[in-house]
Amino acid sequence: MQDILDEICATMNDRSERGQVANYIPQLACVDPNQFGISVALPDGQVFSAGDANTLFSIQSISKLFTLTIALGKLGDAVWSRVGREPSGDPFNSIVQLEHESGKPRNPFINAGAIAIVDSIMMGHQPKETLAEILQFVRFIANDNSIGIDEKVAQSELLTGDRNASLAHFMASFGRFKNPVDCVLGTYFHHCSISMSCQQLAQAGLFLVSDGVNSSTGIRVVSAQRARRINSLMLMCGHYDGSGEFAYRVGLPGKSGVGGGILAVAPGKASIAVWSPGLDSIGNSKLGTEALELLVQHTGWSVFGH
Ligand code: GLN
Repeated sequence: MQDILDEICATMNDRSERGQVANYIPQLACVDPNQFGISVALPDGQVFSAGDANTLFSIQSISKLFTLTIALGKLGDAVWSRVGREPSGDPFNSIVQLEHESGKPRNPFINAGAIAIVDSIMMGHQPKETLAEILQFVRFIANDNSIGIDEKVAQSELLTGDRNASLAHFMASFGRFKNPVDCVLGTYFHHCSISMSCQQLAQAGLFLVSDGVNSSTGIRVVSAQRARRINSLMLMCGHYDGSGEFAYRVGLPGKSGVGGGILAVAPGKASIAVWSPGLDSIGNSKLGTEALELLVQHTGWSVFGH
């Protein structure tokens, strides 16, 4: 495995077309695009890494995977009265479908869906309490208490968050919100601003590899059925309107973020985190996707066959 990762890393470092860093969040626009990291966590607890795998980056929308898991734990199937389970085929920050569907987002991974998920888990609590709960969960599944939030990124999102604010207020106009819109948005911006390394993220994804159990700690996080369902949502919706392309090229459930990270799950085989800040036109990591494509070619890990 180490040889494969070293080779992929060398190939990626040679590529000159690296995509564009997210510039609509000023703090993310400052990140050096010439970085690449990859980590593979195996069910037996081994972790293999190459490149900038210990560098912290903003996990952004990858956090939506964790908030969905928390929401399912708290509310069970009632979550599906707040968000749907269908790919949207529209950009991650799109508002158009909300109007047709009475303010109900198509899935939990587009921005509107993740904002609705935050509202569903707050249950009248203060943003600080909900954030503490989210952080505690992420630390628990990654088995790492050092994970935290990058306050500068959160403030940067808050100051430039007009689009997300409009999504939230639009949903609230249908009477769908149970908490003050500003509290929900503040919580959303902060959970998107969690900082993690590829190593930490790969470890956080392990529970989705082994039927809901984090096999490196032996602790069950969710039921086997829930792990399978979360993986299916990641496959269909985890890369927004690029989900079909990602399934075609990589063939694994995956969740991307505009910080340039991708968490991919090869059920029964491995949890993989890649990071490179340059994005394609849809907002998914360009080199991250290319690296996963190579990894799957080397390992035969696609869920669709070798
Ligand atoms: N925090 C980002 C936003 O709300 C998340 C988007 C993403 O990672 N695709 O725009």
